[in-house]
Amino acid sequence: MSDYKYSIEAKNVNKTFLKKTQEVEALIDFSITIKKGTIHGLLGPNGAGKSTFINILGGLVKKNSGEVNVCGINIDKNIKLSKFKIGIVPQELNIDPFFSPAELLELQAGLYGVPKKKRKTEEILENLKLTDQRNAYARTLSGGMRRRLLIGKALVHDPEIIILDEPTAGVDIDIRTSVWNYIKRISGEGKTVCLTTHYLEEAENLCDSITIINHGKKIIEGSKNDLLNIISTKSVTFVINKDINIPKDLEKFNPITSNGTLKLSYDKNKTNIKEIIDILRNNQIDFKEINTFEGDLEDVFIKVVNKNDTEI
Ligand code: ADP
Ligand code: MG
Repeated sequence: MSDYKYSIEAKNVNKTFLKKTQEVEALIDFSITIKKGTIHGLLGPNGAGKSTFINILGGLVKKNSGEVNVCGINIDKNIKLSKFKIGIVPQELNIDPFFSPAELLELQAGLYGVPKKKRKTEEILENLKLTDQRNAYARTLSGGMRRRLLIGKALVHDPEIIILDEPTAGVDIDIRTSVWNYIKRISGEGKTVCLTTHYLEEAENLCDSITIINHGKKIIEGSKNDLLNIISTKSVTFVINKDINIPKDLEKFNPITSNGTLKLSYDKNKTNIKEIIDILRNNQIDFKEINTFEGDLEDVFIKVVNKNDTEI
């Protein structure tokens, strides 16, 4: 059982919810593999199905069909054991307001049956910089402190996998950076991390590999670098004065002319915009205006979805 390659392996998972009288397909034949020891990003817009998948892993939502293995354990066969392998940091900052951080960690350890001697309450508080607040009412904690406390709660039973659902949604930049650093630290200790996010930047900063999900379906899965290559396409539009003949040097930038504009696409890792401007100058093409457009998550979706459509 300890010999497994994937910390999380899901095959053809389907989940529908009944929303009023309508059936919502939250996950459609969703499959994913997350290698042991990596940081994996589950990326998608709101409503894509990310939390549904996380909740299935945590035994909070029951799937309709499909197979899920956690550290090689089939969750339908042994949900108790598989839950033990996972620590989940939920999306909402729900914390019982009248307990202190130390009490909450002790309670959680009790829930997981961690013997008193093996508890690491002080160490966790220290690592998460909550020692000064150890006896304060949770309701007095700031948003960032609550987020850290929830991370601490997920760690009390020393799980092999940490799952963070939107760890930095709605938190400010300082907190975001400290959460990122902490995630890196957890990963450095050999744990497998899976986080959901709708921030591309977060995935870029942290993840080794990424799965993009939209409308319950997996769109693409790959290493971060593979995906960044898709994203690295940037486009630039020049407002030009007159009809032009496209110089040969521009052909590789997929030139499109329409209504007095010239649109070019280029890979920002390979081409500098100055290079393009120089080509225009050398060919006596005047322009009044330049607009550059950086690819974002939405473009990745459009690009990958279109690519899938044409390939099928
Ligand atoms: P994400 O976490 O990617 O934003 P969710 O997994 O929360 O997406 O939601 C996926 C879809 O399932 C959405 O359409 C959402 O409204 C629906 N959904 C999620 N949970 C429930 C629920 N408990 N009851 C009804 N519909 C739900
Ligand atoms: Mg969610």
